[in-house]
Amino acid sequence: MSDLTAVDVAVSPETKFREYLMTQGMRLTTERETIVREVFASHEHFDADQLVSRLNQRTDGKRVSRSTVYRALAQLKDSGLLRAVARPNDREVYEHDYGYPQHDHLICKECGDLIEFVDDSLNEMLSRVAAQNGFRISAHRLEVYGKCANCCRPKRRQRKTDMI
Ligand SMILES: [Zn+2]
Ligand SMILES: [Zn+2]
Repeated sequence: MSDLTAVDVAVSPETKFREYLMTQGMRLTTERETIVREVFASHEHFDADQLVSRLNQRTDGKRVSRSTVYRALAQLKDSGLLRAVARPNDREVYEHDYGYPQHDHLICKECGDLIEFVDDSLNEMLSRVAAQNGFRISAHRLEVYGKCANCCRPKRRQRKTDMI
């Protein structure tokens, strides 16, 4: 989940995906359309397996094979609609890159929670480092690993008398 607000986009993800596929000599098949719709139905971080199970739960009979999902994820990434943002359990986690502001993630090693944040001073620092090296940044992926506030809490609540 996230507190960031989506950016308005003029062109739908389906149209953007169709345009990308055309440049690759491919079509937006029914399967690919089902996948892109499912992916853009909500801004949640997800991995390939979670997407496969979401697609399997569909009741409209539009089933998509696992290998099609994996291929489509790579295509959605290449087209700039999705980006891989983290690897909490050695799995790539994806999120929308289209219609969503640039941000970074704190990743809990215990529960896998992803906390999104935007910090301008971080972006300024990266721009400065890039400029010093004559480097032009196209994207970055910052993974900060640790333990979230929830997982830092002691498992058993200490009784008040213990603290006196
Ligand atoms: Zn946690
Ligand atoms: Zn995110």
